[in-house]
Amino acid sequence: HATPNEIIRGLIKHSVFASINQVVDYDKAALVAIDLGFTPSPSTVTANSSQGLSASEAMMAAHHDDQTVIIPPVVTIMGHVDHGKTTLLDVIRKTKVAAGEVGGITQHIGAYQVEVNGKKITFLDTPGHEAFTAMRARGAQVAHIAIIVIAADDGIMPQTREAIDHARAAKMPIIIALNKIDRPNANPDRVKQQLAEIGIMIEEYGGETILVPVSARQGIGIDDLLDYILLVAELQDIRANPNLPATGVIIEARLEKNSGAMATVLVQQGTLKMGDSIVVGPLAGKVRAMFNDRGKRIQKAPPSTPVSIMGLSEVPQTGDRLEVTSDERAARLRAQQEVEKRRNESAAPGQVSLDTLYMQMQEGKVKELNVVLKCDVQGSAEAIKNSLTKVGEENLKVRLIREGIGNVSETDVYLAAASGAIIIAFNVKTDGAALREAQKEGIDIRYYEVIYQLIDDIQAALNGLLEPSY
Ligand code: GDP
Repeated sequence: HATPNEIIRGLIKHSVFASINQVVDYDKAALVAIDLGFTPSPSTVTANSSQGLSASEAMMAAHHDDQTVIIPPVVTIMGHVDHGKTTLLDVIRKTKVAAGEVGGITQHIGAYQVEVNGKKITFLDTPGHEAFTAMRARGAQVAHIAIIVIAADDGIMPQTREAIDHARAAKMPIIIALNKIDRPNANPDRVKQQLAEIGIMIEEYGGETILVPVSARQGIGIDDLLDYILLVAELQDIRANPNLPATGVIIEARLEKNSGAMATVLVQQGTLKMGDSIVVGPLAGKVRAMFNDRGKRIQKAPPSTPVSIMGLSEVPQTGDRLEVTSDERAARLRAQQEVEKRRNESAAPGQVSLDTLYMQMQEGKVKELNVVLKCDVQGSAEAIKNSLTKVGEENLKVRLIREGIGNVSETDVYLAAASGAIIIAFNVKTDGAALREAQKEGIDIRYYEVIYQLIDDIQAALNGLLEPSY
């Protein structure tokens, strides 16, 4: 929608020098509305505006005409393992879905919707942030709000930090669900203190972040949490235009014995309808059947609705975009173009590698070397960190985007993919699934056992002197 400034600037173009509350001719207001890409309609002219519309009224009218509506927020629940993500997702689903729906057996399709005070909320129900980061690595932003679950008896743990980092990187508002408050050893004050230490200021301490004490197991505080989600959503003013051809993101996909490829789409814009021609990444198809999160057949899905669809010939990838096309031919054409595009991309991977770093620097493609560092012990992590900050000061900065103890995991790979980083594995291995993902994404993982070799290699790479590794 248009801002007051845009409207005033638009009026000046038509030689009307108006202040924000000044009344202008309907015709002039309509011209400005058209300039700004809206379709004005005189039905918004009310009785007292027979003399015209004020600039602010024109803004309201323009706002109205742009066809966007408030849509349900999409919420993701993240946090450390065992802090209660799954239990929380279950209790919300049970209390808010089954109760209202006769015979409402929920199907796991990767997301579900609940209704609170007549307003809908969509929850992504793949707990853990692997799915979330995997999607982000592929450039898909799906959630509007992040719930960070922290067990009150355990406090902030490594994956809590990770989850917060991801939410911040995605610029999502955060709500803290302080879970397990029923536990005798729950220590809410300690958690609040820990939050302050990492720069999360809760309301109680004069900050802006909402913290809701809950017990997922006993169902305490759940209604409060849902109310706060609606409040934060309202402040975000989350909108979409339901009248467009639909676009969305694949949040889950699998092959089913009888029905073939099933994919869950989270609709983001427009309305997805039965029979729509669609393109999903390199796949073309048609919506042949559509089911909601209760396994019920539906005909159309407005924004923020998760639906599982049938009608693609193959299983798409999580994070792939779905678009509705004018017809099947257009869908096939678009899919073909995507195949070409992906082929070209894999010929010239956008990922950074130590072997090609110097060349990428010369071409101006790389200005800093992002590094994910995994070590066997904290001591070596510290030593490597110190040495790394000293190398390459003149040519380019080395930026440590994540450090941790233990094997290289899928999360490390996703983060590296999302940030164009290399991974340094010091006296650790790479998990099987992470290795497959790294090969697919073209992530350079370097293994070292001696610190000076690691530093030598980085220095050589920065100077274009690294012996290629085969
Ligand atoms: P996730 O790994 O974050 O998905 O955690 P889960 O939901 O699987 O919960 C881990 C354990 O904590 C389970 O044994 C739950 O029953 C328990 N748990 C979850 N929420 C609560 C709670 O509010 N209070 C108590 N006492 N236990 C909880």
